[in-house]
Amino acid sequence: MAKVVCVLYDDPVEGYPRSYARDGVPSLERYPDGQTLPTPQAIDFTPGELLGSVSGELGLRKFVEGLGHTLIVTSDKDGADSVLERELPDAEIVISQPFWPAYLTAARIAKAPKLKLAITAGIGSDHVDLQAAMDRGLTVVEITYSNSISVSEHVVMMILSLVRNYIPSYQWVVKKGWNIADCVARSYDLEGMAVGTVAAGRIGLAVLKRLKPFEVHLHYTDRHRLPEAVEQELGLTYHPTVESMVCVCDVVTINCPLHPETEHMFDDTLIAKMKRGAYLVNTARGKICDRDAIARALESGQLAGYAGDVWFPQPAPQDHPWRTMPHHGMTPHTSGTSLSAQARYAAGVREVLECWFEGRPIRENYLIVDSGTLAGAGAHSYSAGNATGGADEAVRFKMRAPGSDSN
Ligand code: NDP
Repeated sequence: MAKVVCVLYDDPVEGYPRSYARDGVPSLERYPDGQTLPTPQAIDFTPGELLGSVSGELGLRKFVEGLGHTLIVTSDKDGADSVLERELPDAEIVISQPFWPAYLTAARIAKAPKLKLAITAGIGSDHVDLQAAMDRGLTVVEITYSNSISVSEHVVMMILSLVRNYIPSYQWVVKKGWNIADCVARSYDLEGMAVGTVAAGRIGLAVLKRLKPFEVHLHYTDRHRLPEAVEQELGLTYHPTVESMVCVCDVVTINCPLHPETEHMFDDTLIAKMKRGAYLVNTARGKICDRDAIARALESGQLAGYAGDVWFPQPAPQDHPWRTMPHHGMTPHTSGTSLSAQARYAAGVREVLECWFEGRPIRENYLIVDSGTLAGAGAHSYSAGNATGGADEAVRFKMRAPGSDSN
């Protein structure tokens, strides 16, 4: 029988909800490219409920225990004395969400001799050392498309928030002011600006489609070019390199995976090539940007604003400079874990587990690593190597978190 270790973010500080703001979430049949939504044989949760935190258990307990397997659910993931580290030696399956990533470094994989399957409940498996996973013959899967549209909506929200100076204006209301000049001294219209995406995969393309009605000039760069008909329909300008794109854009949004090719792509050198006063929105992965270069660019005015929900490591230590740098619109990692998205990726995890336990193949487009190599979606979008370096620093949040045991 298998031990399944599931690492989820903490419950709300005010307790697991007893009721919800709405009575459900819309049910979708297909993703925009025709791919079907997850098709588990059954689910043991109500879509629209909080599934991504510890008490939600991704709705898995009845199913996993019903088959005689063991399910451990914890948020305690960092440091040598964490529940995750204690459970790893017996674990066959580790489930983790990118929002609260269980970093599976080479050292941790070595401590888990029975580990066979790492499931990302969501999209983005950079918290797993993919090179070590390939070398060990692990299977790594993610729930492709489950939250791509969720993120694209968040990107559009953040672009508008930055350009129109929404967050400081909201804060003037909360502070009981009516300070119009303070609000508008950094507020512009998006109309007419040039907006570019690094990558036009599922999220990047959805962002481009959502921005088209805003009458902006749309640009993109990607390893593979989109079909000509799509470029024409959306009026896209393609750039073979990120450098040639950023120098003409007022707003840049990052929508590629983190892998060795993209790590620290936005460093001092690339940011210096951007227009002065450009906005940068990163909901892809924190490490695609050089942490200190971003803070420096906001201080100097080279960037007019930076927003996103992804950090490195996660959770971000209390003294992470992105918490305090000027003109930022950062949130914790939330864009892909709306209640709507949780229902899809929880169903996707259930589908993967059903396949695994019944010895049926997992959908090709959920695969990232399989049989010692990049596979499925992973073969298309990732490159071999490791992007988990420095993940150990996540333990610093635990050491200093308000209310934490170690405080
Ligand atoms: P897709 O796989 O559909 O798209 C990724 C795209 O990135 C592909 O088109 C790929 O190109 C492109 N790409 C890869 N490397 C490069 C590179 N070096 N330069 C330019 N383009 C590159 O994934 P999604 O759009 O669904 O998700 C993208 C990423 O967003 C995820 O990997 C994850 O990191 C992040 N994400 C964040 C979430 C959040 O909650 N904040 C939630 C979901 C995802 P090609 O395939 O053409 O080679």
